[in-house]
Amino acid sequence: MTIGGGIGIKVVLDGKVVNPNAEIGHMKINPSPFTAVCGCGDKGCVEAEAGGRAVTRKVIATCEALGIAIPEAMHPCAFLDEILVEGKGGRKSWAWRLYNDVSRSLGILLANLQLNYGVPLLIIKGTFALKAFPLIRDQVLTHMRANLSINPDSANIRIEESKDSETGAMIGVAELWEDKYGEV
Ligand SMILES: [Zn+2]
Repeated sequence: MTIGGGIGIKVVLDGKVVNPNAEIGHMKINPSPFTAVCGCGDKGCVEAEAGGRAVTRKVIATCEALGIAIPEAMHPCAFLDEILVEGKGGRKSWAWRLYNDVSRSLGILLANLQLNYGVPLLIIKGTFALKAFPLIRDQVLTHMRANLSINPDSANIRIEESKDSETGAMIGVAELWEDKYGEV
């Protein structure tokens, strides 16, 4: 799974990508008519709820509404992470709420992934995933489990991080798999 500005998932079975044409970032997870419009023009896509661009937009909108100044040189997502990690001025409930929304969206996405494929290993890549995912991992898994009542064991997924760049994602995944778990 790559979470950068957008979101993508490639499912690998026996060394082959089984969903080469998938557009999982545009899987609908929010039926509300009031949710943000995605880059694809539709609404309710997971990418528009939990992708890096979406979170950036939500941080800016929330800070504007609450009269909070984001330091000029700082990326809004970095500002959000700083508040959660360092608790500057106390861990703010708006930041937790925002990330809980993101966690729910990613949890639903992963639950849908498991309902479709039941994969044993998830490798996460991408700038947003590597920075933010460690902060919200437990929340994501809780939401995932909550959406897997039919097969809760499939929420016991192993999650690894790949430090590779976002490009060449598949090569990275295949190599990581080979390194850690033998030949594909
Ligand atoms: Zn979309």
